[in-house]
Amino acid sequence: MTITWFQNALCLVEEGGELSARRLSIEIDGQTIRALHDPEAAPTPGCDVIDAAGLLAVPGLVNCHTHSPDNLARGTSPDLPLELWSLTSSAAREGRTSREIYVSTMLGAIEMMRSGTTSVLDHVKISPDIDLEALDAVASAWADSGLRVTIAPIVADRPIIETMPFDVDDLKDLDLSGYGARMPMPAAEQIAVVEAFHQKWHGTGEGRLKVAIGPSGPQRCSDDLLVRAGDFSERHATVLHTHVLETRLQREMGFRLNPRGMISHLGSLGLLNSRINLVHAIWLEEDDIERIAEAGATVVHNPVSNARLGSGFCPLPRLLAHGVRIGLGTDSAACNDGVNLLETVKWAAILHNLIDENEANWVGPQRALKLATSGGADVLGLHNAGRLAAGMAADMVFFRLASPAFSPLNDPVRQLVLSETGSAIERVLVNGREVVRNDRSMLVEEAGIWAEAAEFAERNRRDNQSALAATHLLEAPIRKMRTRYGINMHGGCSCH
Ligand SMILES: [Zn+2]
Repeated sequence: MTITWFQNALCLVEEGGELSARRLSIEIDGQTIRALHDPEAAPTPGCDVIDAAGLLAVPGLVNCHTHSPDNLARGTSPDLPLELWSLTSSAAREGRTSREIYVSTMLGAIEMMRSGTTSVLDHVKISPDIDLEALDAVASAWADSGLRVTIAPIVADRPIIETMPFDVDDLKDLDLSGYGARMPMPAAEQIAVVEAFHQKWHGTGEGRLKVAIGPSGPQRCSDDLLVRAGDFSERHATVLHTHVLETRLQREMGFRLNPRGMISHLGSLGLLNSRINLVHAIWLEEDDIERIAEAGATVVHNPVSNARLGSGFCPLPRLLAHGVRIGLGTDSAACNDGVNLLETVKWAAILHNLIDENEANWVGPQRALKLATSGGADVLGLHNAGRLAAGMAADMVFFRLASPAFSPLNDPVRQLVLSETGSAIERVLVNGREVVRNDRSMLVEEAGIWAEAAEFAERNRRDNQSALAATHLLEAPIRKMRTRYGINMHGGCSCH
């Protein structure tokens, strides 16, 4: 096993619950950090010594929520709220070949590794039906990229017209035979596909690949499917990853499922436990936060996506004050429109300053960076990632200190979060293996992937016009529904 010794790096290590910068040498034995040494210590005989005096070593970032199929649709979605946005984005995912799915996954992997993400949760929607061959293409791309990934295939079994609080009168004159009326694949069959996928890929890639389960959202799934997904998560000890309460309309749907709302609905099905990832969690009821905290459930905060879609403010400071375990996510390249987690960390650090005048409640760079490293690792159940410490996986990012963001160097954590974009990255390691060096991924032929993506995008623009036209049948009923629930009537913000 090769031992590598990064001599005298400025390292961000957790001490007393805070990330602090310390001059240390990092000894890596194969896939693992063997030890952190005083910078004066002599390297282990025979190891590869790398002079790291000009580098800031940071635990690899953990992106807790993205959707790889959307990377091919980057830049195509107009400025619309979620329910209208999703009409466009879902059409763009229809009828992909395995190679398109592979390339779409790899586009995100390249962007993420080049901006310091080493672990990711990919919430994968295969359209129109979940399919093992398509999921294989996703897993192959992640395996080839060198990144650490948890793949949570999306399951859902309610037709779209049952997933929003439509008024039946608004739908009665529409011909929805091409869309929304198709019978979904039965719950048991969907779970069987995820079982087969789990059996094939979980634990592969030197342990880098994990398979979890990802109900799209409680309002998009029958209780039967949700319970089966919960059972899958328990049997395989994986996270159950689901969008929850992203918009006000989803809150309305929650009340249709349970008089006390969506979080209570999940609780009544036995799903509110330490394995669940509640993605977005914006429109919570007053007592939901206590309920989430008591259950040890986790929240994934996606501030850029929430702003892009006008969804609202996740009550991050209050969740933190209640001790809720939280990770950060970029969400997809169709609603962000990138997957650079450093940008998301900055938003998480400062966004809530806009709606809380008491600076004691502000999240700030220190807490935001912890959410993006050890916090995210905890949310995904990655107990060996997210920290620079002996015995942890060697997942780390080295930033050049001789760069705009760190010149002059006054506060490494503040400058990393508020100033750096990824342009100062010198190298990235995952499981001890170098995946990025000097603005280039080491295991992926980037230019070839980008050329293929350009070809696929051209074809999609040409071929998905009919799918787009079909989905836009629902535009008028959705606009009426939004008005009915008082959205877009006052022209103001909906932040509280
Ligand atoms: Zn999402």
